[in-house]
Amino acid sequence: MVVGDASLDIDTLVIGAGPGGYVAAIRAAQLGQKVLIVDKSELGGVCLNRGCIPSKALIAAAHQFESAKHADAFGISVENVTVDFAKTQEFKNGVVKKMTGGVAGLLKGNKVEVFNGECMFINENEARVFNDHESPRYRFKNCIIATGSRPIELKPFPFGGRILSSTEALNLPEVPKSMIVIGGGYIGAELGQMYSKFGSKVTIIEGLDSVLAGFDKDMTSLVTKNMKKTGIEIITGAKAESAEQNDKEVTVKYSVNGETKEVTADYLLVTVGRRPNTDGELGLDLIGLDMDERGFVKVDHQGRTSIPHIFAIGDIVSGLALAHKASYEGKVAAEAISGMPSVVDYKCIPAVVFTDPECSSVGYTEAQAKEKGHKVKAGKFPYAGNGRSVSLNHPEGFVKIVAEEGTGLILGAQIVGLEASNLIAELGLAIEMGATLEDVALTIHAHPTLGEIVMEAAELVMGHPIHIIAR
Ligand SMILES: Cc1cc2nc3c(=O)[nH]c(=O)nc-3n(C[C@H](O)[C@H](O)[C@H](O)COP(=O)(O)OP(=O)(O)OC[C@H]3O[C@@H](n4cnc5c(N)ncnc54)[C@H](O)[C@@H]3O)c2cc1C
Repeated sequence: MVVGDASLDIDTLVIGAGPGGYVAAIRAAQLGQKVLIVDKSELGGVCLNRGCIPSKALIAAAHQFESAKHADAFGISVENVTVDFAKTQEFKNGVVKKMTGGVAGLLKGNKVEVFNGECMFINENEARVFNDHESPRYRFKNCIIATGSRPIELKPFPFGGRILSSTEALNLPEVPKSMIVIGGGYIGAELGQMYSKFGSKVTIIEGLDSVLAGFDKDMTSLVTKNMKKTGIEIITGAKAESAEQNDKEVTVKYSVNGETKEVTADYLLVTVGRRPNTDGELGLDLIGLDMDERGFVKVDHQGRTSIPHIFAIGDIVSGLALAHKASYEGKVAAEAISGMPSVVDYKCIPAVVFTDPECSSVGYTEAQAKEKGHKVKAGKFPYAGNGRSVSLNHPEGFVKIVAEEGTGLILGAQIVGLEASNLIAELGLAIEMGATLEDVALTIHAHPTLGEIVMEAAELVMGHPIHIIAR
């Protein structure tokens, strides 16, 4: 097939090759559709190039650095632990390259055509894609829009110079001596703590009364305690008002408790949320797609927009702006196009924060379950009662399970502690399968593993934990 041929007809056009778009394209191709995916930038989208993957690579490096400094707890002395941040960045860039190369291989292997260029709708059946060399026109039967999101830029804090979005913060050539972070959501908390571990003096300015405000207080209090231990200053209930920068530093004025204060650092990172890429040249207004007042595309339970053969997925539709949500919606949309009865069900969508300790959550919290009218029983099993976490020298944290009184049906779970990101998967599966506390408690978990904490949390809620005294 000649890509770029103006007369090219395709079954499904996918716009945007992030975790929403590339997954949708592969699934559509698996189902026999002739698929073209276009992206104006790199394959993998924000997630692989400027989000999940590079941030986790740097966070992993920061953990290694900190672990080396504290190896004495294991009787190992490591002197003069230093970081060559240029090499750390090389490592991170290598990870990104491997992952994006992997996406290219997967698309090719599934016979998905790829075209690098910016896509604009001409009408509801045709789009043109522009790059420096050509601007072919495509006629499609179906389209999946997955154009993602970009960082919100606040007027008083325009990106540039010493004022960074997450994108620039992931690409600093050296560890800054100091950094101010406006916004203690998951991106600000993860990146702030990462730089703090590498030695930056970090100040987080947050408008609400805690960082990671969407998570339970008993989870975030463990994170903030750890953050403060590495010297992070967290200023909550504060409003950042202005910033002034020169070529060496940036000063932020903020108000807290009616007082105006200021703080100066090498860099200011602004992480106050993301905006959907539904404006601009794409032409969604031209084709008359229904959107809400915040710029999110309105979709039904299959991702279908107000134009029935056009679908929208990922960060451009409302809900959690997370890569796995985008991929999930991508699979559903591709299947819907093939006539399958797939629909989205967000009941088991996990949320994870890669702070130290990690936080994760799936299903309802105890409060949400009660609000929904359930009679609830819940309990927390501490990491300290688990041999594996103690032997790994990470005894802080807990697994909390929320279940329905009487039936024991698992309604939700929250985890804070080592590997919370991986442990939550078992409880997501439990909710998805309609499992009860007994199902989890009767599942034999290998010893010694962190997974045993999940089993013991189920036993605890049932009233008979082994490794702590039942109250
Ligand atoms: C620092 C950071 C860390 C993150 N960490 C996590 C994490 O740990 N876990 C998690 O689940 N999520 C994380 N996220 C969020 C995650 O990256 C997004 O939710 C995810 O990338 C959204 O996927 P998407 O497919 O909707 O869009 P995107 O990944 O944003 O991809 C959209 C693609 O569309 C392309 N595009 C846009 N407009 C056009 C056009 N007109 N023509 C052609 N192409 C176009 C863009 O170039 C881009 O490649 C993080 C985000 C950031 C910024």
